[in-house]
Amino acid sequence: MPLTTLPTYADVEAAAATLAGAAHRTPVLTSRRLDALVGARLLLKAEHLQRVGAFKFRGAFTALSAFDEGQRRAGVVAYSSGNHAQAVALAARELGIPATIVMPHDAPRLKVEATVGYGARVVRYDRYTQDREEIGREIARGSGATVVPPYDHPHVIAGQGTAARELVEDAGPLDVLVTPLGGGGLLAGSVLAVRALCPQARVYGVEPAAGDDARRSLEQGRIVHIDTPVTIADGAQTQHLGELTFPILRSGVDAVVTATDEELVAAMALVAGTLKQVVEPTGVLGLAAVLSGAVPVQEGERVGVVLTGGNVDPERYGQLLGYNRSNDEAVV
Ligand SMILES: *Cc1c(COP(=O)(O)O)cnc(C)c1O
Repeated sequence: MPLTTLPTYADVEAAAATLAGAAHRTPVLTSRRLDALVGARLLLKAEHLQRVGAFKFRGAFTALSAFDEGQRRAGVVAYSSGNHAQAVALAARELGIPATIVMPHDAPRLKVEATVGYGARVVRYDRYTQDREEIGREIARGSGATVVPPYDHPHVIAGQGTAARELVEDAGPLDVLVTPLGGGGLLAGSVLAVRALCPQARVYGVEPAAGDDARRSLEQGRIVHIDTPVTIADGAQTQHLGELTFPILRSGVDAVVTATDEELVAAMALVAGTLKQVVEPTGVLGLAAVLSGAVPVQEGERVGVVLTGGNVDPERYGQLLGYNRSNDEAVV
């Protein structure tokens, strides 16, 4: 498949075959308490329990599996705030491909350590002043390595789409599907799966309120570029949709809505309390928007929500949930 061709549902099915035995088939979580709060049946796809702790393993493994012999030898370059980095690093190790990962200086420590732990070479950059795509391309020029971008790539989109495909296969047809949204790889893949498997379902993407470029892009009919948004949702600090993700979103998404950092923290706390699960800020974007009413759901609807990742430093997680007491304060 040429890398500029829009992927189709057939590519999602091919990705599912590639991922069988390589990626986890993550569970679908439910909670009567959450259902009561929103007045609908929530079906939560637990991609924070995916390998590397995020759905990104699906796209990365799918893309690297399509490398030819020369590409495998020359290696892979990826730029990412974390989860795509870890995903490419692990997929590369499993497939015997050398990996270089370009990561921002302020990426969560856990994500950087994990990436190094998978055997990748890590190159750091400043998220607010340097262009990671340019750095990635320079490394690729020097080494002949192949750049695998985090979302604007047909195999990556197809791989990400397998999460929604499994959700429908395991939980049954949906009335609504909601996913977090950064560059749109997950949402584009989800559109392909849902439009093929339950075409009547409404599909929503949720991006951070601080960076609503995708909502504006769909409104204006062109890819809107913004400065790196300042938000705790570090997995969705993207500046623009992709050349491939935008047209797919345009054709298949009902609406893009937003969630504030406060809403993300409230959703993380609720997930901890009800599901006993640790989900990172970006990972609860979809759920937060259902809870806030930004995503409209009707009484009794079957609402699929992707919990996308769980990679948050424990200290940071405690801080966000408000449990970081100072030493002289007794914690009972
Ligand atoms: C990358 C990421 C997203 C956003 O995915 P896109 O394909 O860029 O839209 C959402 N949640 C988590 C945890 C991520 O790592």
